[in-house]
Amino acid sequence: MSDLLQQALQRSIAYLKSLETREVFPSATALDQLAHFDEPMPDSPCSADDTLAHLDRFGSPATVASAGSRYFGFVTGGTLPVAHAASWLATTWDQNGALFTTSPVTSRLEQVVLRWLRDLFELPPDTTGAFVSGATLANFTALAAARHAILERFGWDVEAQGLFGAPEIRVIVSDEIHVSILKALSMLGLGRERVQRIPVDSQGRLQPEALPELDDRTIVCVQAGNVNSGGFDPIRAVCERAQSAGAWVHVDGAFGLWARVSPQLRALCDGLERADSWSVDAHKWLNVPYDSGIALCRHPDALRAAMSVRAAYLTERDEREPAHYTPEFSRRARVVDIWAVLRTLSRQGLSDLIEEHCRLARIFADGLREAGFIVHNDVVLNQIVVSLGDPHATQAMIEAIQRDGTFWAGATHWQGQTALRISISSWAITEADIHRSLDVMVRIFQERSAS
Ligand SMILES: *Cc1c(COP(=O)(O)O)cnc(C)c1O
Repeated sequence: MSDLLQQALQRSIAYLKSLETREVFPSATALDQLAHFDEPMPDSPCSADDTLAHLDRFGSPATVASAGSRYFGFVTGGTLPVAHAASWLATTWDQNGALFTTSPVTSRLEQVVLRWLRDLFELPPDTTGAFVSGATLANFTALAAARHAILERFGWDVEAQGLFGAPEIRVIVSDEIHVSILKALSMLGLGRERVQRIPVDSQGRLQPEALPELDDRTIVCVQAGNVNSGGFDPIRAVCERAQSAGAWVHVDGAFGLWARVSPQLRALCDGLERADSWSVDAHKWLNVPYDSGIALCRHPDALRAAMSVRAAYLTERDEREPAHYTPEFSRRARVVDIWAVLRTLSRQGLSDLIEEHCRLARIFADGLREAGFIVHNDVVLNQIVVSLGDPHATQAMIEAIQRDGTFWAGATHWQGQTALRISISSWAITEADIHRSLDVMVRIFQERSAS
């Protein structure tokens, strides 16, 4: 065992070193070599050393170097060293985080981290939550609590009776709602096409004056951090309207919620504490390994009613039972990585990390504008939407960037434009990485102008 773990350590260190020099997206050769995994199911055992070597030889080169310092695709965090190390230890523990009885340490760390998050995000004292696999599941979990709370008002027990014959719930989203909300609604029987859509402004922000009359059978979904522009919906204005009508407000803050910890940026999330539920990813901006997201809810009874389980072999106790808050039952102790980052960085360190990424995004955007690119969004956070104006030229530029391999960012569609989307979300990114990547874009731009 010890020798095998030493090998894994050596191979991991070599992998991380290789990221400095290799292309961000796997080479064509590396992709071809994936054929080495197409073996028949073995009839007889081989050594564990051999399996690990095979995985490293053919698997490592076919990874996307998102753990490195020049991956700007989607909204992808890296893994901070302490999160990496703590996660290894937690894997060694092999805890089932479902119950206090199966893992006292998981139960306690969840309580501690929830308290810290309430404090960091300045959420109401009753706020509780669930540690799930990402923001999609966090949205699902929080919206399940919303569904419960609304139907309970009308004397309907949705967990027991289902939705057939239930009073109708209305769901309001913006035109820029993240697809994961629609997926969550579809899984909850609320339907992704029943939603009422509200128009957005040039930054993708919901326009609150376009909200219809709200009532106590309505869920309004807003976002803190648009996945393209980084823009924030006017959370306070929506919450004020919703609260007087008894509607439920859910905030999808997959990455943007972390802006709340920065004195410079916190105004973007103004009024956040008035919402009913929130989701936030840890595997994006908190830089823990996949897969890790958190659902938060100010109505503990609604969340528990939506998620709790009863079984003859489960005894109730005073300690937190994680499975009463999550869609999953057996699950890994993913809170460990989150706890390790929060404890090590501190409030100040986390704020510094977030602000540094926003500073790097502004440097990148300024350089792009100077070189003649069109930056389509106000760079208020860590996101840049950039193009050459013409869709064909932009697409060709994106392909040239991806062929070059120095950094990776992907295409998006933003308000009718084909554009490149750049996200600065990994602790590993330095100012030198920004300049190096900017140089690549400027060179591609000039080659295009010359031809
Ligand atoms: C990334 C993202 C999600 C989905 O998160 P997963 O962790 O991939 O499930 C939801 N909403 C927003 C705004 C996001 O940026």
